[in-house]
Order: sequence, then structure tokens, then C-alpha cells
Amino acid sequence: MLVSSKDYLEDARKNHYAFPHFNYWDSNSIRAEIKAAEELKLPVILAWAEKHSPEIGMEDALVLGKYFGSKAKVPVILHLDHGVTPELVKKGVDEGFTSVMIDASDKDFDTNVAITQEIVEYAHARGVVVEAEIGHVGTNSTEDDSKYTEVDAAKEFAQRTQVDSLAISIGTSHGVYKTGTPKLNFDRLAELRNALSIPLVLHGGSSSGNENLRKAAELGITKVNIYTDLAMASLHATQKKTFTTEPEMAAAQRKAIEDLSKHYYDVFETNKYVYQV
Ligand SMILES: [Zn+2]
Repeated sequence: MLVSSKDYLEDARKNHYAFPHFNYWDSNSIRAEIKAAEELKLPVILAWAEKHSPEIGMEDALVLGKYFGSKAKVPVILHLDHGVTPELVKKGVDEGFTSVMIDASDKDFDTNVAITQEIVEYAHARGVVVEAEIGHVGTNSTEDDSKYTEVDAAKEFAQRTQVDSLAISIGTSHGVYKTGTPKLNFDRLAELRNALSIPLVLHGGSSSGNENLRKAAELGITKVNIYTDLAMASLHATQKKTFTTEPEMAAAQRKAIEDLSKHYYDVFETNKYVYQV
């Protein structure tokens, strides 16, 4: 069944664990991610990112998400990840995502606030929750203190936008790390959690280190976005040549994605969530 993320992220915040957010890019990946959640009897956040439009457009992603999501035996949050085009995000709200992210984090503060406010107003009127981002989660791992989300700015942003959850920057990056496991700014995370009453989100979770991610969940991160690791696991499964037919290869890919998905549930201690049938 498709559900909103609101109660789940609030519960995670209160009880110091996180939900994994899995991007899907085809039917193979979404099936594997749902299977992992069903076997663990835990809710799942399935996300399509606007930047994946060249591989799978929003319409096709919605068909997959709504079909597999509504017949899943566990609650499914269908999330639009990194929506950078407001018109597309509104269309996503209209057409079935239960949660959307508006990402104007590359804009100046006031513009980010204005764009986020516009989406929050639109989405809330239609029962859909909104995630936004402040402090840019980059695509490389340079050491630069200015990239961490500032506490006062985050507070003001949350108050002005009334956003439901906030992606913050504490040292993770999207994609593959070039210099090993990143060093996360846990002090800043703790400050942000204390200053804000809404759930916090961590992007660029892939290969950020199990200990790092578990600690982040304990300290106030309620959702961790995972894409690169899943895509790499799927790719590596194709390189092992344990199959002789294409369907067998697809099954090996699903198994790899499923196993890694389960691993992340374990890292984030999502089983602290008490499943309500
Ligand atoms: Zn992201």
C-alpha cells in the first residue's frame, strides 16, 4: 500500500533510527527493494530522481511505483527525489507520489525559501509531504567547512517554509567517494537535531561507512538516501557470470540489490520500528 512518510519519519526521529531510501531505475530494482522490505516486514521508501529521466521518465517510474507499491505487503512511500523543476514536482504531486523533494539548494537562501514555500503550499493542499535541502550535498568529497548546513539558516528555513523534512549537509557526497570513507560532522548533526523539530535527511549515503551511518541515525537522521551502492551491486552481479541466460542474470541482479537493501535496514536499525499491520 502507498502511504505518506510523515508518521514514519517522526517515529524514527523519536526512537533514534532511520529508514533507508532506495532509488529505483527499472522494474528489476524496484522488485528487489520491495522484496527486501517484505521479508523484513518493514516499510520502504522507493524513490525516482528527476536526474534519472534519461533512463526512465517520470510517467514510467510512476506506473512502476504505483503498481508494485500498491500490491506490496508493507507500507510503501513513493518519493520524488531531487525535483529541481517546480512544474515537474507539482505534476508528481498530482500523479501519485506520496512524498516529494524540491531541491533548490544550489540557489541563494531566499530563492530556495521561495521555491520551497511554493511547493509546500501546493503539496500540502493535496496531502503530500515535502522534503527540501539546505547546504549543498556535493558530488565530491573536498574538505571545506562552508559546505556544512548552518544551524541558524536551517532553523529559519524550516520556519519560513513549513517543510516536512530537511536534507542537510554534514559531509556526505553523492556518487562514489574518491578518497575513502568520509568524515562526518556529528557535532553539527547534533546541533541541527536539537535546533529543529522536523526529521532530518542524509543524502549520499552510499559507501559512507556503516558506523558513520548508524551513528547518524542515532543522532537524528531519519532517512538515508542510497542509490550508487545499489546500482554498483547490480552491476557487479552481472560481472560474476554465475548465469547462462538473461533472465538468470536479472535474477542475480535482484538478489544483489535485495541483499544490500537488507544490509542497510540493519545498519540503520530500522527494526526499531514496530510494524503495525
Ligand atoms: Zn541526493
